[in-house]
Parts: sequence; C-alpha cells; structure tokens
Amino acid sequence: MKKLVIAIDGPAGAGKSTVAQIVARKMGYVYIDTGAMYRAVTWLALRQNLTVKDAAAIGDLAAGAVIELTYAAGKLVVLANGEDVTGPIRTPEVTGWVAEISQILPVREAMLVLQRNMAARGGVVMDGRDIASRVLPDADVKVFLTASIEERARRRWKEMLDKGYTVDLEELKREIADRDRKDYEREYAPLIQTEDAVLVDTTAMSIEAAVDEILKICEEKSGGI
Ligand code: C5P
Repeated sequence: MKKLVIAIDGPAGAGKSTVAQIVARKMGYVYIDTGAMYRAVTWLALRQNLTVKDAAAIGDLAAGAVIELTYAAGKLVVLANGEDVTGPIRTPEVTGWVAEISQILPVREAMLVLQRNMAARGGVVMDGRDIASRVLPDADVKVFLTASIEERARRRWKEMLDKGYTVDLEELKREIADRDRKDYEREYAPLIQTEDAVLVDTTAMSIEAAVDEILKICEEKSGGI
C-alpha cells in the first residue's frame, strides 16, 4: 500500500495536533508538528534576547539550528540544538512571539527545507499553516481543520488551566484572534485553505469524529487502508 502524505492546516486551537497525532498513530505514520518547529526557533531567539528587529540574526539562527522531533513513551519531544524544549516552547511568552518570528522569510525557508526532508519518505501526517499550500503542495490528502474562535479559545483556556496557568478567557480570545490575523495576513506563506483541501469544522465535533472523517478521506484516497 502506498504510504500517503497527509497535510493538515488550520488556525490555532482547531485541534490539529491532537487529531493529526491520532491519525498518524492509527495509520502507523510519523506525525510532524511544524508549529513546534517555529516555536523552537522562537525559543532560541528569545534566549539570545533577539527581537523581530533582529530578523537577519534570527534567520541565521534558524538556518543553523538543529530542530528534531522525536518520541519518548509515545509523547512528542522537541529538541533545539540538542536541548529538550518540549515544555518551554509552550509558554505564553513563546506563544506571544511565535507568529512574529514566523513571518521572517529566512526562518520560513529554513523550516521548509527541514519539513520537506522529514516528509520525503512518505507515511507522514504534517500539520501547520502552509503545509498544503507551500511545504507539501503535492500531498495526497489535504485537510483544513478549523473551529469557531469562541470554541478554539475555550479549548486553549482549558488546556492552559490543566497545565497550571491561570488565564482570562476573553484575553485568550483576543490573543488567538491576533495570532490568526498575523498568520492569515502575513506576506510569506500565509494560512489559507487551498482549493483542493477538505474543510473539517470541529466546532461541534468530537476529536474522534474529526479523526474518523480524516481516516475516511485517506481510505478513499488509498483505496482502502
Ligand atoms: O500550531 P501552533 O499553534 O503551535 O503554531 C504556532 C505558530 O507557528 C503559528 O501561530 C504560526 O505563526 C507559526 N506556524 C507557521 N507555519 C506553520 C506552523 C506554525 O507559521 N506551518
């Protein structure tokens, strides 16, 4: 059976990583979280006290960075230059800066090369913002996963609460809307739903239902998994 390349794009909090991880596990595929890669670059930049004004230096940093996505006990572990940054890349500080850092063209170019290499052998589920449009335009399956801003904010709020952060729901909604705007409106590789992508709106849909829908699309593509 041909190993598929599956691209899942969508805005923050739509459930991409949860859904993509389950789809990958069920298919015996590799899951690639490209958001984690941009977060790792952001973390490296912040640690060196670089701001968006230092775009050239951040571009160099990204080009020279070794970003690895590995697994330990079934959980994604993100390494940046050999250092485990799995926890630090999810802090509000990194989340607040990542959409700015992701707009820097050399950063995107560096991540594009890494991401295409990671997908080269097929059998991958890759999620992000520009996977179907730019990173893997020839992907076998393209899904645009979204949900209402209210629902996405509520999910993030609950996720943060579970991690021990106290956050205001309305403030979170504003932050997500701001990140959405930056991702949709940026000059290079903005977030878009490509014409050949299937829209999956998870506002009133369970994770299991979204997974089933994507598995069905994959089955149709491959003629039976
Ligand atoms: O998916 P996640 O919310 O972790 O992504 C964090 C940020 O990384 C996004 O808001 C976006 O700015 C950036 N990103 C991107 N292109 C991707 C994946 C993520 O620009 N393919």
